[in-house]
Order: sequence, then structure tokens, then C-alpha cells
Amino acid sequence: MKSICVFCGSSLGFKPSYRQAAIELGHLFATRKTELIYGGANVGLMKVLADSVLENGGKVIGVMPHQMIHNEIAHNGIHKMHAVSTMAERKLMMVTLSDAFIALPGGYGTLDEMSEILTYNQLRISDKPIGLLNVDGYYDDLLRFFDHGVSEGFIRDEHRNNLIVSENSYQLLDQLAAYSPVSTGKWIEDIKHESSK
Ligand code: AMP
Repeated sequence: MKSICVFCGSSLGFKPSYRQAAIELGHLFATRKTELIYGGANVGLMKVLADSVLENGGKVIGVMPHQMIHNEIAHNGIHKMHAVSTMAERKLMMVTLSDAFIALPGGYGTLDEMSEILTYNQLRISDKPIGLLNVDGYYDDLLRFFDHGVSEGFIRDEHRNNLIVSENSYQLLDQLAAYSPVSTGKWIEDIKHESSK
């Protein structure tokens, strides 16, 4: 894959395994000649990941609102920084630039970005693969919640199954490359039909 967008924490998290996973993923990007698209920051796992890609000879592209760049959290060592006006514009540009998405451990920002991409996938605005690197089971509770959403009738099985989950970055990259979207059939017609009862 030419370029993959990674969403991850602007914090490091407490366990060393989170940092280690970011380092390993960065190394893999560089060796597989996959460009990193990310939020452009010089903090937390975002910095660890970007530094690892750079240290291993890979290419890194950031996308950040002007205001955040002026707050001096921008990474100055990356190949290119796209400056945008708003967070919404930033997400749209990240989607346009990337062939796939990965979420590493993170907080609200990571969750927001991943949820938006999952919603794009559901609406077929984007068919690009989405992977979750479930380092040390960090996302177990969220995945349980998604399953709960399926069993309670708010998330469709096929949409749940379009999220690729792995604890291993090598496997995850291979799965993203092999992905073809699960057919979502006529779910919008089904929703309209259910709602008219
Ligand atoms: P969080 O998971 O809340 O730490 O937020 C990280 C995600 O949101 C990243 O993928 C970024 O794209 C975005 N983000 C949040 N905070 C920052 C920040 N200080 N600098 C750059 N991007 C950020």
C-alpha cells in the first residue's frame, strides 16, 4: 500500500507496550515503503510513530490545522505538513491522501477519527480498509461495545465485520492489503422499511 493513515494517542499511555507497538509499526511502514499520513504532532505515540518511520528511512506526511501548528506541537522533521483550516478539513484530507487507516491506542481524538472513518465506510463514502491494532487488549472493551451494538440492533453485522482487528502489526498490514469490503447489501432500504412500521 502506498500510504496509510494512522490515528493514535497524543499521549504515550502508561504501558511500554504501546510505545513499542508504535515503534514496530513505524519500522514496518519504512521497510514496506508505505508512507505514513498522520496528525503531524510532535507528542505522544504520534511522535514515537513518526520518529520510527523517519529513523528507518521512511516517508511521513502530517495534516494539521494552522492554529495547532502555531501552538508549537507540529513535528518539524517530517517530509511534508499540510496546513488546513479546521479539524473537519483535516480529517477529510487524511481520508483523501490515504489507502487505508489504522488506529493504535489513543483517547478521544483517536476515537473520533476512527468513528468517522467507520461511519464513512458504513455509508460507502469510503471503501478503504480500516484496521485496529489492539495492543495488549487496549480496545477489548470498545470491541465488546461494538458487539453489543450489533446484538441490540444498532450496528449491522456487515459493518462490524468491516473493521479489521489484530494484536500483531505484521498481520494487520497483510489483512489490510488483502481486504475487500463486505457487501452491505440493501441495508438503507431495510432501515427505511423497519422505520415505516
Ligand atoms: P487523542 O487520542 O485524544 O490523544 O488524540 C489523538 C488523535 O487526535 C490524533 O490521531 C490526532 O490526529 C488528533 N490530535 C489530538 N490531539 C492532538 C495534538 N495535540 N496534536 C495533534 N493531533 C492531535
